[in-house]
Amino acid sequence: MSNNSENSFLGSVNRNFEKAAGFTKIPKGILEQIKACNAVYEMRFPVRIGDEIQVIEAYRAQHSHHRLPTKGGIRYSQHVNKDEVEALAALMTFKCAIVDVPFGGAKGGVKINPWDYTEDQLERITRRYTTELIKKNFIGPGIDVPAPDYGTGPREMAWILDTYLTFRGSEIDAAGCVTGKPVNQNGIRGRNEATGRGVFYGLRELCDTESAVKRVGLTGGLRGKTVVIQGLGNVGSFTGTIMQNEGGVKVIGIAEYEGSIYNPDGIDVAKLIEFRKQTGSILNFPGTKTLDKRDAALELECDILIPAALESQITIENADRIKAKIIGEAANGPITADAEEILVNKGILVVPDMYLNAGGVTVSYFEWLKNLSHMRFGRMEKRFDSNMYSKLVQAVEDLSGKKISENERKMLTQGADEIDLVRSGLEETMVTSFQQIWQIFESRPEVKSLRNAAFVVALEKISNDYANLGIFP
Ligand code: NAD
Repeated sequence: MSNNSENSFLGSVNRNFEKAAGFTKIPKGILEQIKACNAVYEMRFPVRIGDEIQVIEAYRAQHSHHRLPTKGGIRYSQHVNKDEVEALAALMTFKCAIVDVPFGGAKGGVKINPWDYTEDQLERITRRYTTELIKKNFIGPGIDVPAPDYGTGPREMAWILDTYLTFRGSEIDAAGCVTGKPVNQNGIRGRNEATGRGVFYGLRELCDTESAVKRVGLTGGLRGKTVVIQGLGNVGSFTGTIMQNEGGVKVIGIAEYEGSIYNPDGIDVAKLIEFRKQTGSILNFPGTKTLDKRDAALELECDILIPAALESQITIENADRIKAKIIGEAANGPITADAEEILVNKGILVVPDMYLNAGGVTVSYFEWLKNLSHMRFGRMEKRFDSNMYSKLVQAVEDLSGKKISENERKMLTQGADEIDLVRSGLEETMVTSFQQIWQIFESRPEVKSLRNAAFVVALEKISNDYANLGIFP
């Protein structure tokens, strides 16, 4: 099977694109331009590993230049190939448009299994990859801004920043060349949790939308809903803990690399993460039953299933056995296009990746803005706001002749910190974008899935850009 066959990840993305394009009146040439990947840099470079020299294969795909910079994570995985990177870059273009982040889509990949290398070797690979990007002008705060993805995190982003500074340190905005950096290295508070928190806001908004929950025979509100999660990495663990602590859901099943566990009375996700850190596995977590195969949790009866591991996890092979009423795609591309048809025909609401996991890129956008402004959010207004609120409270107390408690005073008079502003901006983004998608889905009966609706939203915004910009020359 070629990588670009109908069932491949890129094939799925392209099929979904074609389907949604049919619902728009966008001219054919513009659609072709939106679909095409604008530029791919495919590279090979040598890295000294122990006594040997290894040739590393890597990519950076810039899918769309209709807005600049382009933006997208860097993935370290032995499965990386050109088609996968292009598919992920295309998703980034649509994702940014959906959540009104003014970037084109991009994605990077280094074909290595990061667990096979020492920290020192990973640092050398990352620095050499960054140097290749600098040489070809494929990185920069106004050009292309990478971020973490599968197999990478704040540590790699700090190495990328440091390498960029080595060559381009005199650029005043150099810190904006990469996002997802550690907070003390020009990062932003709330970036680590952003994708999981975005998943929470998105699913909460869906459950608060009466016409949405009615469609799948559920009652309104997230509280008390049963949830199953696949993957307890960055995205899965924040999604699970935040949905549990702030949303009041009951997580009844978890699937990880080593297997699936189940407890109908609920699993404490934070304690499970701690348990896995200590034992290396989720299996045998007290109170849970181990299911008979690795992916068995996906097939549990539940209200919301959240795949948060990798692509192509729900395929025509297992789609028929999925019993969830709502599937929230926290991972990129966890459902193949064929499998989605089966799920949609069963009446399952699939909340698509390019909307639901956009919290990461949204907060990356905030981080980039912070880097360009060279100042922490909240620094200018926090005290001013706090003083104003104190005066207001004082005025109300004077007028009413009553005093409020110290706790209430503290709550009412606090100014916003960076983390408060980041969360508030993310919440606003996820709520507004959901309603845009839902409005298309509800008002156009020919649009049968939320993915099609999300694509229509994205395509219309991007084609508007082309219409307004014109075609050069
Ligand atoms: P991660 O490496 O932190 O975690 C992935 C987890 O999935 C790991 O715990 C791994 O053991 C587990 N896993 C791997 N194969 C599995 C399998 N077959 N069954 C069950 N579990 C399995 O990666 P992440 O950053 O959490 O990314 C997860 C997904 O979310 C990816 O598709 C990624 O592209 C997407 N995503 C990530 C971000 C982000 O900000 N990190 C943003 C948007 C989308």
